[in-house]
Formats: sequence, C-alpha cells, structure tokens
Amino acid sequence: MDKKQAFLYSSLKPDARQEEGFAAFLEQTYHEPVELVWVSEPELSRGFRLEVGNDLYDWSPEGLLQQFKEALRKNRYPAGNIIPLLKRSLEEFELSALPEETGTVEMVGDGIARISGLGGAAYGEILVFDNGVRGMVLNLTEEQVGCVLFDTDNEISAGDRVRRTGKSAGVPVGPGFLGRVVNPLGMPIDGRGEIPSEGYRPIESKAPGIIDRSPVNTPLETGILSIDAMFPIGRGQRELIIGDRQTGKTTIATDTIINQRGKNCICIYVAIGQKASSVAQLVENLRRQKAMDYTIVVAATASDADPLLYIAPYAGCAMAEYFMYQGKDVLIIYDDLSKHAVAYRTLSLLLDRPPGREAYPGDVFYLHSRLLERSARLSPELGGGSITALPIVETQAGDVSAYIPTNIISITDGQIFLESSLFFAGQRPAVNVGLSVSRVGGDAQTKAVKKAGGTLRLDLAQYREMEVFTQFASDLDDETRRQLAYGQGLMRMLRQNLNHPYAHVDKVIILSAALAHTLEGIEPEEIPRFLTRITGDFRQLHPDICSRIDETGDLTAEDKEQIIAQAFAAKEEWLTQKQSQTE
Ligand code: ATP
Ligand code: MG
Repeated sequence: MDKKQAFLYSSLKPDARQEEGFAAFLEQTYHEPVELVWVSEPELSRGFRLEVGNDLYDWSPEGLLQQFKEALRKNRYPAGNIIPLLKRSLEEFELSALPEETGTVEMVGDGIARISGLGGAAYGEILVFDNGVRGMVLNLTEEQVGCVLFDTDNEISAGDRVRRTGKSAGVPVGPGFLGRVVNPLGMPIDGRGEIPSEGYRPIESKAPGIIDRSPVNTPLETGILSIDAMFPIGRGQRELIIGDRQTGKTTIATDTIINQRGKNCICIYVAIGQKASSVAQLVENLRRQKAMDYTIVVAATASDADPLLYIAPYAGCAMAEYFMYQGKDVLIIYDDLSKHAVAYRTLSLLLDRPPGREAYPGDVFYLHSRLLERSARLSPELGGGSITALPIVETQAGDVSAYIPTNIISITDGQIFLESSLFFAGQRPAVNVGLSVSRVGGDAQTKAVKKAGGTLRLDLAQYREMEVFTQFASDLDDETRRQLAYGQGLMRMLRQNLNHPYAHVDKVIILSAALAHTLEGIEPEEIPRFLTRITGDFRQLHPDICSRIDETGDLTAEDKEQIIAQAFAAKEEWLTQKQSQTE
C-alpha cells in the first residue's frame, strides 16, 4: 500500500529542523510512516495548515483563534466572573485536529461531485476544491456527500482534495449594489468594476414570524391601470404573474420597476435561465428609463451552471432582506420560477434523488415556499420595511393546473393571468380579468382609486357574459347595444403601452370618467387619444383638485363630479370637432 501522505500548507518551506519536528509529530500521532509533502500557499503569511487524510491541523492565526473560541465556549462558568474562565481555558488549551475537515473527490461530472471523508459537512455548506472552485453540499449520505459546483468541473478529477469552509453560501450586500448587474454569488458582470460591500448575508435565512409582521395595507402601484384598478398589490404581498411564453410577463415586471421612480422603493430583478442578450436588453431599457439608479439585477443566464440558477432567487432575496431590515421597501421579481424548478430538478436527478410528479423531486414545493415566505411587511418595531415579490411562471398552452403553476398559485396572495389570445387580439397588457385575483384586495388600494374604479371588475364580468350571449344574435335592442359599447370602451381603456405607467391621479381621472359612461360614442381607435385629452385638460384646469387627490389619497364626491362633468364637456367638444371635420 502507498505510504500515507501529509500535506503541509505554508508560505515558506519548512527547514530541516522543522521537518524533523513534523516527522516526529506524525509518527507519534499516526503510528505509521507518513510522507510530508509541502505545498506553497502564499496567503498563509503566518502559521501553517497540516492535512493528514481527513484530519486538519489548523495553525494559522484564524484557525487558532477559532479553536480558542471553541474552548472558551465549552468552559462555561457561572455568569459574572470571566477571569477564571479565561485562565482555565488558557491553561487547558491544546490544539487538536479537526477531524473530517478535508475529503477526497470520488466522482465528478455534470457539475456534480461526490466526496468521501467529509463526515462533518452540513447541508448547504460551501466546499473549496484544490483548484479554487467552490461547491455547495446538497446531499448527505452515510458514506459520501453530494456537492454541486459553481464553476466548470473541467479541472477537477477523482482523487482531488476538498476542504470544508464551515460557512453556508452567502452574498455580499450593500447600497453599492444599486445600479449594478451581478451574478448569484454577488460578483459584478457588467464590467463596471468592483462593488464595495457592507456586509455578508447567507442566501438562506428564516422567514419573519407572525408576530414580526404587519398587515399588508400600503399600496405598491404598478402604474398599470388594469392591475392597480382591479388586482391591487400591497407592500409585502406576493403576486404571481403567470402566462404562456411571449404574453408580456416580463413587461409587467419592468413597467412596475419603472413606476417606482421617486417612490422610495428599491427594486431587485432576478433573471433565471434567460438568454444573456435578453437580460442585457432589459438592463439597457431600465437604464434608458432612469430606473437602474434604484435597481439591482441578479442574473443567472441560460449558459450558467444549474447550481447558479438554483441559488439565484435566494441570493436576490438575501440582498432584498438587507434593505428590508433597514426599514426600506423593496420590490423583488423572480423571472422566472419555472426555469428555477427545472434547474433544481436537473440537480436532484443528478444527485440520484427519487423523481416524483413530472420528474420533480418531492421537495419542490418547499423550494418555492421557503423563498416566497421571506417576503413580508415587518412590524413597526422592526422598522416597518417590506419585500414585495412578483414571481413569474410560464405556462404551457395556458395550463394553470400543471404541477409548478398550481404549487406557486397556492403559495402566493393572488395571480395576474396573462392570456395569449388577448395578447394577439391587441388587448395588451393581456390580463384575463376573470382568472386574475388579488387576495389582499382593496386594502392595497388608495381610497381614491377604489372610489373611482370600484365597480370595474363587475362591469367587465357582465360585459363578458353579454358578449358570449349575443355572439350569434343579429338584432339587438338599444339597451344591449349600449351595454356592449360600454364594455368595449372599458376594454379599450385598459390597453396600455409598455414603458408608460400611469400616475396616480391619471388613474383616478380615467376610471371616474370611463365608469360614468363618457367613452360611449367615441370611436374605439380614438379612445387612447381621448383619455390623454381628458387627463391633460383636467390637470390643467384643476391643479388644486389633482394635488388634493394625490395628497389625501382620497376622492370626495364633489371632486368626482367635477371630473365627470369635465369629461362630458370634453366629449361634447370632441364630437363636434369630429362632425365639422367630416363635413
Ligand atoms: P417570454 O416568455 O419570452 O419571457 P414574456 O411573457 O416575458 O416573454 P415580454 O418579453 O414581456 O413577454 O413581451 C413580449 C413582447 O410583447 C415584447 O416584444 C414586448 O415589447 C411586447 N409587449 C409586451 N407588453 C406590451 C404592451 N403593453 N404593449 C405593446 N407591446 C407589448
Ligand atoms: Mg419574459
């Protein structure tokens, strides 16, 4: 059998006398001949590290300190007097081997490594390979640990050595990250230089408990009329955006980010498994809209390793938590969790976990519930900060009852369902009013929007019903015809261009006017122009009312009447102008 080897890591080569000392120590400890191999490690300016088999003797300053701390912790004395404790700890202090601190790669491939001899490793712990590549423990069996690699496995082979770090995965955090694009390990990928960090947060952390939370009752406005009027989102809420591919899911998220300008809300966009070019385009768009100043983009693109895709949302959430616990409001977008689940499925299958429904592992529900539970609105004692989450899920052919969509629907506080048929018919954003819901409801709306648009959902439901009913009818009575025109007007009103969020007061004006039937008689194609006209006119003629609506967040009956009267006057003028143009 080969002679046992001991690896000595230090910055300077040991001299003959030191080598003799090591030989004696090894002989005495292991009772067999051990060959000493010196490895240069310039980072260890003082002290050394000795690795024998799976044992580690850490004689670097950090290692010594760590072991002394441990000794202090073990020597518990009655509280109050620390001197005897220190004294005894010092007298009894003896440097010992940390068993099972290093291991050996048994198998490596597909971004996964199986390692033997790391008995002490914990789930989620970071491991360092000889060549500097890092990995994370995801599987623990009696003989081996399964580890996923954050980099390529090209330079790792069976027999390589692996060291524990005792740390779980984490990311650097701080305000310096605003305006930057980083990977899930917190490293910049936008070529704008190093990012100064103010701390380090583990990517997995416990969600705030019930006592630590406040009710969700402050609006987070998306600026998208159909959402703010019918499915309002509150700070601390989790609202799912769900729909087929290319139905405007990402656009809703980015429009919401753009609408947060000047509203004291930090935004984090987590891109999971998208093309790098799409992410670059999105960042460019945010920059053009001056939204990057308060936004962090965390990107794990389709070309990144699956473990990076897997940790991306947790890393983004850790960055969000840093701000939330400082009392700030944060909006986080996970785009999208379907690809996240697929990356996790790949890892699980490679790690030999038993596949369940749709080949996902059994804990795929926990994968997302532990992520989304971390969104919260904190109680005033904890600073009152919040994380609002907008997870995105892609469906196949509108099937919301597939495994991952149903899971996430059951975790979130509502969903915005986008439909391809609406999207292709030009109804954009393609929100399906019947299938969307916000379970927080009116609490997350300002009183003004609630009073202006309270009956919108019901009116649209009636319109849809009537539309189906009258599809094949040829002669309709006047009343039905009027109702249909009213509904069509409302649907037109809900169409909104991308990158054009509405201000609060504009929403109040449009909703008040439209629900008072002012849009009837206007050609459908002209409705967007007409709406711009009435909001512009009203802002100009009644700046006092506009500022009152914004300041109080409320709409008095008189103000509402003013809006409606103004809208009817504008319509009169509009129609006579039309008349004279045609004549
Ligand atoms: P994917 O499945 O590829 O991620 P997605 O569902 O995220 O797609 P988007 O990328 O947001 O969809 O939008 C798809 C296309 O539709 C884009 O080209 C976008 O410009 C356009 N679009 C989205 N919303 C609107 C809108 N309100 N008005 C006009 N065009 C829109
Ligand atoms: Mg998208």
